[in-house]
Amino acid sequence: MGRVYNFSAGPAVLPEEVLKEAAEEMLDYKGTGMSVMEMSHRSKAYEEIIQTAEQDIRDLMNIPDNYKVLFLQGGASQQFAMIPMNLMKNRKADYIITGQWAKKAWQEAQIYGEAKAIASSADKTFSYIPDCSDLPIDDDADYVYICENNTIYGTKFKTLPNTKGKTLVADVSSCFLSEPVDVTKYGVIYGGVQKNVGPAGVVIVIIREDLITEDTLPGTPTMLKYKIHADNNSLYNTPPAYGIYICGKVFKWLKKQGGLEAIQKKNIEKAQILYDFLDQSKMFHGTVRKEDRSLMNVPFVTGNEELDAKFVKEAKAAGFENLKGHRTVGGMRASIYNAMPIEGVKKLVEFMKKFEEENA
Ligand SMILES: *Cc1c(COP(=O)(O)O)cnc(C)c1O
Repeated sequence: MGRVYNFSAGPAVLPEEVLKEAAEEMLDYKGTGMSVMEMSHRSKAYEEIIQTAEQDIRDLMNIPDNYKVLFLQGGASQQFAMIPMNLMKNRKADYIITGQWAKKAWQEAQIYGEAKAIASSADKTFSYIPDCSDLPIDDDADYVYICENNTIYGTKFKTLPNTKGKTLVADVSSCFLSEPVDVTKYGVIYGGVQKNVGPAGVVIVIIREDLITEDTLPGTPTMLKYKIHADNNSLYNTPPAYGIYICGKVFKWLKKQGGLEAIQKKNIEKAQILYDFLDQSKMFHGTVRKEDRSLMNVPFVTGNEELDAKFVKEAKAAGFENLKGHRTVGGMRASIYNAMPIEGVKKLVEFMKKFEEENA
């Protein structure tokens, strides 16, 4: 069997070119006689891999010099704790609850201080982004926290919240490198890479230098201090070396595609094909308020659970994998990250049309 169209929310599809290149270099990376997996993270060859990866993500996102780029472990979920441990000087932070991941981050922060939910879309199953233009932000809040793209519910902040001068912290796991971004609007941008950037095991943290201090909460483990990783250029201990190498290849691939403006254009085109179909279908419906729709994760339902299950099953048999919706939402979800080719989306829509005709 060949490769399928993989609509998984994560770990997710990676560019075929990147996988092929990695396969070619598997046994002998550039004449070193060994795989990147077998290599010292202090070797010349590896130093070049991690430094090039950092430079490439800096180029892609236009990251200013006063921000550090850290390649860490522990997934996005570890950041739920690292953020308060490092940033909660006043032990106060404001959270905007737009889904499960924001909620988990908020719950974790409550271990460390007074984490307040200042807005939420839980009343309508997180199907929209609340108005964040004038929120009751605490004068002493150390930061305002958002999950910018909600992987499970398929919503995305199209405008960032008005934080009233407070530091903005954003989990961008599922929209990382999907469009251009103004890094200066954030104090911290972070994401687990297994959604849109690379293999599981790496989380990238882009953090403004003034937020990196010795002054962490008492009891913060050394490994959870941004400063130790920043001072050691992500080489304090053994980093997730092979994962970073693959991320580096994805950065090169993105540059070849024309960078983030170009990939955004493609992402808009892909999402449009699917949303246009959903908007005219008599069987399938999108579940998200139109203006808040994500370009990356597209949830939809038929309104009939049996029909949903039949669709997922038949889609799988036809080579469209992982279309089942998250267990908390039901229905279907198509994740159409950077590496999903446009043909994959076109063929999915053709399949949906056919299914609709056959089951009308
Ligand atoms: C998947 C996901 C997470 C959790 O990532 P882990 O690396 O598994 O901890 C957190 N936030 C968002 C937005 C996600 O999509």
